[in-house]
Amino acid sequence: MSAPDLAIFAARQSSSRGRRFKEVPPAYRGEYQRDRDRIVHSTAFRRLVYKTQVFVNHEGDLYRTRLTHSLEVSQIARTVAVALGLNEPLVEAISLAHDLGHTPFGHAGQDSLNDCMRDFGGFEHNLQSLRVVDQLEAKYANFPGLNLTFETREGILKHCSVRNAKTLGDIGKRFLERRQPGLEAQVVNIADAIAYNNHDVDDGIRAGLLTVEKLREQALFNTQYVEVRRLHPEIEDRRMVYEIIRRMINRVVTDLIDTTQATIDRLMPKSIDDVRSHDALMVSFGEVVQKEHLALKAFLMKNLYRHPQVRQMTNNAGKMVAVLFQKYMADPGEMPAEFATLALQNDEMAKARVVADYVAGMTDRYAIAEHDRLG
Ligand code: MG
Repeated sequence: MSAPDLAIFAARQSSSRGRRFKEVPPAYRGEYQRDRDRIVHSTAFRRLVYKTQVFVNHEGDLYRTRLTHSLEVSQIARTVAVALGLNEPLVEAISLAHDLGHTPFGHAGQDSLNDCMRDFGGFEHNLQSLRVVDQLEAKYANFPGLNLTFETREGILKHCSVRNAKTLGDIGKRFLERRQPGLEAQVVNIADAIAYNNHDVDDGIRAGLLTVEKLREQALFNTQYVEVRRLHPEIEDRRMVYEIIRRMINRVVTDLIDTTQATIDRLMPKSIDDVRSHDALMVSFGEVVQKEHLALKAFLMKNLYRHPQVRQMTNNAGKMVAVLFQKYMADPGEMPAEFATLALQNDEMAKARVVADYVAGMTDRYAIAEHDRLG
């Protein structure tokens, strides 16, 4: 998007807090486009295709992976950004990077690694996403990590404990001062939730763990179900589900744009710093949709994420991650040379962090192969 289309409260290059290491500006791209491009070229990004969203990667070829999830988040977030006059390349960069720090096997992997790291500073996937782009991607000659702009890093670090925020300097400050990130970051945060709420309904039905009947208890779903049935009484089931989901996404995205635009019109922020210093988030659903959205989220928690079949898979996955962690702690030489060398010259605390970085970076199938090899 060219600068004149940007709203005054959008993130813009001219008021960017910049990169940690100074660089010559790109000739034909904006700074946020450069961030996005670096993310797409990163190793961590390519690995997302083999990482679980809800269903383990090898369970079926049609389920979402972290990669397709990230692309769906990006699509939704970019639509909202353009409608509100926000910075589209920045929103795209944050979206594509928001899950880079996820362990193999989704939340089960993350919970397990966090348990393993209890005495060594813990493990948070948002913080890990920032570690990936700030440190772990070693690709460029002149600096560690991808050297992204402050605004992209601000968006990636969605949550952070106060203890960790204290160690992060600039980027951690807002968690100590209870301030907000820019609107682009706020948009991605909600786009993430819109994407998973909807694609998990689709994946859940496909897996046979959710039924259309049961989903009709949910207002968001049922409103569209009734409408689709009325307009297309003969429609076949699979197609009906798609039609319902696309309408659900349209409904919540439209509500999000309208509600947020009204908030912006009321508060009239003059800059991204006005947005940051406001005491509440400015990007939100209206009351009705917010309620329905949260209800669907709770429904999925109860009926999908905690479904016995999903649980059995996640329990096994969690155990696998714990075994890998213990094996590498006991014998760092089992890791590739660059990790082993780092782990061996350090104290227990630093060694554990190296092992956590290594395990977190694994794809589902690589973790399974390593578990078989070491087991
Ligand atoms: Mg996500």
